[in-house]
Amino acid sequence: MSNLQSPPLPPPPRLLVVDDSELIHRLLKVRLQFERIEIETASSSEEALRLIKEFEPDVILMDIDLGVGDPMDGFEILSEIKSDSSTRDIAVIFISGSTETMDRVRALELGAIDFIGKPFEVVELKARIRSALRVRSMVKILAQKARIDGLTGLWNRAYFDARMDEELIAAGRHGRPLSLILCDLDAFKGLNDEHGHPFGDEVLERFAQILGAGRSSDIACRYGGEEFALILPDTDREQALQAAERARWAIEGERWPDHPGLVVTASFGVSQYRVDLDQAMMVTAADQALYRAKELGRNRVEHAQPDLDERLIA
Ligand code: GH3
Ligand code: MG
Ligand code: MG
Repeated sequence: MSNLQSPPLPPPPRLLVVDDSELIHRLLKVRLQFERIEIETASSSEEALRLIKEFEPDVILMDIDLGVGDPMDGFEILSEIKSDSSTRDIAVIFISGSTETMDRVRALELGAIDFIGKPFEVVELKARIRSALRVRSMVKILAQKARIDGLTGLWNRAYFDARMDEELIAAGRHGRPLSLILCDLDAFKGLNDEHGHPFGDEVLERFAQILGAGRSSDIACRYGGEEFALILPDTDREQALQAAERARWAIEGERWPDHPGLVVTASFGVSQYRVDLDQAMMVTAADQALYRAKELGRNRVEHAQPDLDERLIA
């Protein structure tokens, strides 16, 4: 079936102009009005720092001297931007009347992407903004790639570690439940040996799709090899066990056209967040449950022992 609709355009890139001269604000807004760019302006460091958080610019045009009354200059704002991981990748172009070579050197060494002298030619400014946007989108793509598993498209192990930390903190802070499922395909070595590695890869991809098809808030990751992890925010024990059971049932029920009659299964271990558990303990708990699922015959879901004990005591 052909798709005649063109894909929706991504939102226009955002540009923040930081300059104490209103004239520059007006000039840039007029001269860039036909570019596909959303523009905001700031006249002071205070306004700039607020807009950096709220407007989330892709590119900043930064003046050095923001006037006598301002406690910060462009260099200091740049240092702030670079010291915060959520703003570090914004492309900052300095735009200044300074002819001092050392100012240019300092801006670039602090992490600015470019330096344009005032007065400037608008065509050149546009070209430099476009170039900064290209670098910015490449940085975004690379950062994204570094966290995604190449075969399955799920989040990779590095992302899992970072995200688990965040979710544990959030669960602790808001008193919300958090569950973790670790799962591992059964007898996968034998499947590779018998049907070939490319088919093994196909199974991994299909299993990844099953794990990724749950709630949109679930975070499906490839933990390594044929082992996967599902982080389930706001999910209690019963719901997590159900989610694991659904995935277990789905992979078992999958049919493989090139290998009629083949049944692929997986085993699952589930653990829950508790205030006295850190990330390593929560993973260990799920891993032990997974190990038990394997020992008890595979193709099953087991829950972490500590909570079982709790249930026995209760
Ligand atoms: P168990 O039921 O105990 O989990 O047995 P198993 O055979 O699944 O476990 P084992 O850990 O012995 O084997 C895991 C296999 O997974 C071995 C390895 O070759 C295979 N594997 C790991 N990563 C990939 C991959 O990216 N593609 C393919 N096709 N196979 C992989
Ligand atoms: Mg396995
Ligand atoms: Mg394994």
